[in-house]
Amino acid sequence: MNAPIRYAEALLTGMLGTFGLDIEYVRAEKNTLYYLDEDGAEVPVLDLIGGWGSLMLGHNHPEIVSYAKELLDTGWPTHSQHSSHPVADQVGAALNQIIGRELPGAEPYTITFANSGAEGIETAVKHCEFDRVLRLKTLFEEIEWNADVALKAVLGGSAALPDDTSLLPGEVPAPTTIEEFGALLGAVAEHNIARAGTSPVFFALERAFHGKLVGSLQFTFNPIFRAAFASLGPAVNFVPPNDAEAFESAVAAHRVTVLDVQVVDGKVTLVERDLPVIAGLIVEPIQGEGGIHALTAEFAARIRQICDTVQCPIVVDEIQSGMGRTGKFLASSHIGLLGDYFVLGKSLGGGIAKSSVILIRQSRYRPEFELVHSSTFAKDGFSTAIARRTIEILEADDGAAYDRAAERGERILGMLRELAAEFPDVVVDVRGKGLLIGVEFADQSQASSPVIREKARAGLLVFQLGSYLELAHHIRTGPTASVPTMLRIEPSIHISDQEIEQMRTGLTEVCRILRHQDALPLVYP
Ligand code: PMP
Repeated sequence: MNAPIRYAEALLTGMLGTFGLDIEYVRAEKNTLYYLDEDGAEVPVLDLIGGWGSLMLGHNHPEIVSYAKELLDTGWPTHSQHSSHPVADQVGAALNQIIGRELPGAEPYTITFANSGAEGIETAVKHCEFDRVLRLKTLFEEIEWNADVALKAVLGGSAALPDDTSLLPGEVPAPTTIEEFGALLGAVAEHNIARAGTSPVFFALERAFHGKLVGSLQFTFNPIFRAAFASLGPAVNFVPPNDAEAFESAVAAHRVTVLDVQVVDGKVTLVERDLPVIAGLIVEPIQGEGGIHALTAEFAARIRQICDTVQCPIVVDEIQSGMGRTGKFLASSHIGLLGDYFVLGKSLGGGIAKSSVILIRQSRYRPEFELVHSSTFAKDGFSTAIARRTIEILEADDGAAYDRAAERGERILGMLRELAAEFPDVVVDVRGKGLLIGVEFADQSQASSPVIREKARAGLLVFQLGSYLELAHHIRTGPTASVPTMLRIEPSIHISDQEIEQMRTGLTEVCRILRHQDALPLVYP
């Protein structure tokens, strides 16, 4: 019989096939995916990819599955747009309670729903720009008002004409008549209008990953993903993580001012005002796809200060690091990073639904946004109810799930550190927090084994190792999106001691293979 034609991602599936990874899984529970062998018997595979981070509670968590069934069986409305959604408010209330607990002093956040992580980022970015444009509008209204006040004051004789015009570019003489003052106001308006259209300036961090849609992609650092589409979105300024001075200088370099005409001590005076050009900074508290790198508490405090002085909102992308994965609900809580926005996704859907949320600090929130932004599926009844239940499960028993993520994570990290100590020639680093972990292997592009060397040069070594782990040890793993030498480990909180030992056995073999440059098991697992 001919093989069926593939219509969906045939190239990618074909590539996976060359590594023996084009496996069809037919059942899933906790950290296990099952496929069928030739005799139709189920073969369990330990899943360390965990839906690339969407499975904090594992595959098909029984409580979420039975709640989903209940919602469907009872005819719970999934699509009832433009109506009251108390469940969405309950999700907002629960998340606010958590933020208040983990980041004491935080003001309330409004909640906006989206469908995926990338969409959540784009919604946040869109709101940042909306807020900036409205701030711009307010500034120009104030400037117009002040010019009017100044003109009336001069005409009424309560203010003297300005005698210093040096803030205007070019040699503009100080006005001596009301006509000349009118011309000066015209020159100021022209100067301001020329600057009003300055494009917004967004900042993100080097190594960042914020999604792959045309907008969110601009904030994703890796040029492999971004370069071809760079003209489709805003030019983002990437600054090095944990280098507050670099960020401060970049912010200063983008400062743009306009001129205001104010009456000061009875004299019309030209005053510089900052144009709201800086639109936002986006950060992951622990970079996931960029190779598991944490921001420091010092950097978090400094960017908060710098952003406050220029009114730049901080968007904290907790899509991968949030939902308890690092041992607290928000990874930001470890470093006291108070975002103006928090974006959550992935595990928010309990491993079943697709949902993301954007939490926006109320003092920055623009309610008019609700009139210009929507999506058919966002805030749908099913996903929103599942999100509420997922948060309830995480919060149950005083947040036992977070403690478990921390404890399991330490156990895995401990095992991996032992491995790194045994194979320092092979394992460069083991890092992470809670269940967001990466193992970085030494560069093998000069390896003596041709198989290992060629795969490393093609950036595919981790796929080859993953293939071996899958076929020989029934362990499913993969790289992070931007670090081809890193194996990512993001299991659910259900990971057992036995599964950690299974991981140890598989990874020990991988280290032996690399140490001895013995590629045979890679080719014939
Ligand atoms: N932000 C971060 C930090 C992510 O890790 C990801 C996905 N890996 C995204 C955004 C994009 O999320 P999604 O794939 O749901 O669009």
